[in-house]
Amino acid sequence: MSFDLLGLSDELLKAVGEAGYETPTPIQKQAIPPVLMGQDVLGIAQTGTGKTASFVLPMLDVLAQGRSRARMPRSLILEPTRELAAQVAENFEKYGKYHELTMALIIGGVSFTDQMKLLDRGVDVLIATPGRLLDQFERGNVMLTGVDIFVIDEADRMMDMGFIPDVERIGTLMAQRHQTLFFSATMPPAIKKLTDKFLKDPKVVEVARPAQTATTVTQFYLQVGPRDKREALREILNGDPEATAIVFCNRKKDVSILEGSLRKHGFSAGQLHGDMDQPAR
Ligand code: AMP
Repeated sequence: MSFDLLGLSDELLKAVGEAGYETPTPIQKQAIPPVLMGQDVLGIAQTGTGKTASFVLPMLDVLAQGRSRARMPRSLILEPTRELAAQVAENFEKYGKYHELTMALIIGGVSFTDQMKLLDRGVDVLIATPGRLLDQFERGNVMLTGVDIFVIDEADRMMDMGFIPDVERIGTLMAQRHQTLFFSATMPPAIKKLTDKFLKDPKVVEVARPAQTATTVTQFYLQVGPRDKREALREILNGDPEATAIVFCNRKKDVSILEGSLRKHGFSAGQLHGDMDQPAR
């Protein structure tokens, strides 16, 4: 099956072709037609399945009709992290190059003064993290009553990060009638409850998990005592001096300790965890 059969505009098909995509992924095949028809969608899909394009593509065509009004975005996409928000923004730019739609981001690390100017003029697409958005709402900088399409992406991750009360509050700031697209990789009971609240007669689309590991990766495990772990790691790293490595730890503190230890043993190591500020990351 090709993208031509999904009901997307010629401009969009051109941009998709230029992005190098020939066939829609399963979630795109199943979600794009109902989104174009104005239906609510519940997408149970992980990152890697092509789920971003499954809402970005039809949204571009739906939003191509109509005009934006000052401070009242026509669509809102909630993302749990600024990195994901930035990725979605890139998708809008890539696929929307033949559309004249405007976009603003309300996330940490992006100057709000610039985004404010865009919002003031009116945007078609607003991409935000929940806390930052509420902050700007409280200051009267943005109104949500003009939102026609509301996307909640990575709902289970938002839950893990404690954002669900914020998401629920944001839901109450919108007009009654709007289309909601809800994506989550998993459906624990709290998320199921949220979908009952937010979605009206949704088209449910569930796709298989993408391959979990690249076929080029060899997996093995080593049994070592707690005190021998660092030495075992050094041995593995020394076994292939050309190789680069990513090491995951289950606590931020351990990340720092391990980094210090590796450096002490002459490895060039860096760390990344949630207690570091943005410039340090
Ligand atoms: P996502 O699940 O949205 O994070 O997308 C995963 C990756 O798949 C991204 O790098 C996309 O650029 C890519 N992708 C999305 N749709 C397609 C498609 N139809 N064909 C090939 N690659 C795609």
